[in-house]
Amino acid sequence: MSSGQAPPNVGKMTYRVNLTPDLAIIQMQPADGSAVPDFKAGQFVALGLNLDRNGDKITYRAYSLSSPPKEKRHFEFYIKWSTEPVMGKLTSALFNMGQGDLLYWRKPAGAFTIEDKKADGTPENRRLVLVASGTGLAPFISYILHLKNTGSKREIVLLHGAKYARELGYRDMLEKIAASDPNFKYLPTVSRPDHQLSQGWHGNTGRVETLLGSQLEKILGEKITPANSFFHICGYQGTINSVVAILIPLGFVTNRNKRKDGSFDIKIETYG
Ligand SMILES: Cc1cc2nc3c(=O)[nH]c(=O)nc-3n(C[C@H](O)[C@H](O)[C@H](O)COP(=O)(O)OP(=O)(O)OC[C@H]3O[C@@H](n4cnc5c(N)ncnc54)[C@H](O)[C@@H]3O)c2cc1C
Repeated sequence: MSSGQAPPNVGKMTYRVNLTPDLAIIQMQPADGSAVPDFKAGQFVALGLNLDRNGDKITYRAYSLSSPPKEKRHFEFYIKWSTEPVMGKLTSALFNMGQGDLLYWRKPAGAFTIEDKKADGTPENRRLVLVASGTGLAPFISYILHLKNTGSKREIVLLHGAKYARELGYRDMLEKIAASDPNFKYLPTVSRPDHQLSQGWHGNTGRVETLLGSQLEKILGEKITPANSFFHICGYQGTINSVVAILIPLGFVTNRNKRKDGSFDIKIETYG
């Protein structure tokens, strides 16, 4: 290690389950047995590996935490193996690892968190509409569990788009919450319904942005406006662009282009 630098944090993978060969839920705990540090729902942790056999350079990549802040035993992640157009560096190594293997991690960071106050300081009570493509779901799992853990009554609508039904991670849990909590609605959709990995799927089809509009309004019983809804969008750049293009004409404003008074109605996190 070069002088003057704190040694990197070491973590131990304690759990890995694959939904498909290239999509996994992974848990990691600090290798020294300490509790995970405090963080806010929606933050990420940079995971690192030494991919350079002859050197000490650690390659880090950011991964959103899917576990809620209250979970102190481990961090949980929802990770896709990047294989196109070339094999991803970190994920190719990560998908060859299993329980007990060690990896480096940096403390949680990031501002893709739940807004609880408006720009004018008054409480932010608008309905949360969470739009995710692929593993962009991860921070929203943390949000949903956190809001449940803290007894929040804020209305949440989760829209999740995946290529295949098997890639609808956390589906059982989300369906159970939706069945028991009138404040939570879950709308999954699959863009490749005819594929083998979507066998048995009878739900929505198409990209996640197609759920916005009449389908969402039918479920909510009202039109979506900046006065009643606050959006979070996470995942591929294409999804973000499409969702923003639908919302801007409705008067919504993103955190990247706030109004003069500092207010905004859409928060964005891009993975790619
Ligand atoms: C804030 C944040 C949170 C994130 N959270 C998650 C998460 O929860 N889950 C998740 O799965 N991912 C998440 N990501 C993405 C993650 O950080 C990595 O980018 C991803 O896992 C790929 O890393 P990699 O090292 O395997 O791929 P890399 O080697 O970095 O490659 C990245 C992409 O570029 C392509 N590429 C590489 N080299 C070339 C080349 N020479 N020519 C053309 N294409 C090339 C690869 O095929 C791949 O698609 C997040 C990113 C950010 C910024």
